[in-house]
Amino acid sequence: MVPNGGVVIANPNAPTGISLSLKDIKALAEGNQNSVIIIDEAYVDFGGESALSLINEFDNLLVVRTFSKSRSLAGLRVGYAMGSKALIKAMNDVKFSINSYTLNAPAINMGVASVKDDGYFRENISKIKETRKKTVEGLEFAGFKVLSSDANFVFATHNRHKAKDIFEELKKRKIYVRYFAKERIDNYLRITIGTDEEMSAFLKQIRNITEELSMRF
Ligand SMILES: *Cc1c(COP(=O)(O)O)cnc(C)c1O
Repeated sequence: MVPNGGVVIANPNAPTGISLSLKDIKALAEGNQNSVIIIDEAYVDFGGESALSLINEFDNLLVVRTFSKSRSLAGLRVGYAMGSKALIKAMNDVKFSINSYTLNAPAINMGVASVKDDGYFRENISKIKETRKKTVEGLEFAGFKVLSSDANFVFATHNRHKAKDIFEELKKRKIYVRYFAKERIDNYLRITIGTDEEMSAFLKQIRNITEELSMRF
């Protein structure tokens, strides 16, 4: 393995939405035993496989999650980490010795309430997955190739039109997706899954835009 001072991987990945398998994560932890491996599972509730089952086996593995995505509580600043006693102790030592972003009581109470309301959580996730499926179908119908996503967004590229052109046209219509002017991904759009209504409106505009761009050239 490559020498490193620690490995941080978002799984599922952003902005692709692609997941690594448990086997891949295991190989990573095994091959980098002198490094801390952080698996950022911000999107794991939307698909993908958690690495949680590996924390007893690997003392160097830390699994972190947030309440900002699948629990719809962005802004509350609640997240958590799971790992070996040694790793958790190291984090607590830092927490108690410098004034880091500790959780306040209302945030803790709201986090607990969220965890208790498992029905709401599951229903929301299944809605998003269903809307994601419809969105992928709509995008493919409009000529996009969509990467297989385990997240609450999809990463897509069009077979004829430039991502940047589509991005600009969407922006004119006050629909905002993410475009990254970076090597390898500069012909992709990251589209966050909203409500069914929002995604229908989005797909309608996508159909208009792709038709319009086709006529332009
Ligand atoms: C959103 C996100 C987080 C955490 O966000 P917070 O709001 O700071 O909890 C971490 N990793 C990834 C990849 C994310 O997308």
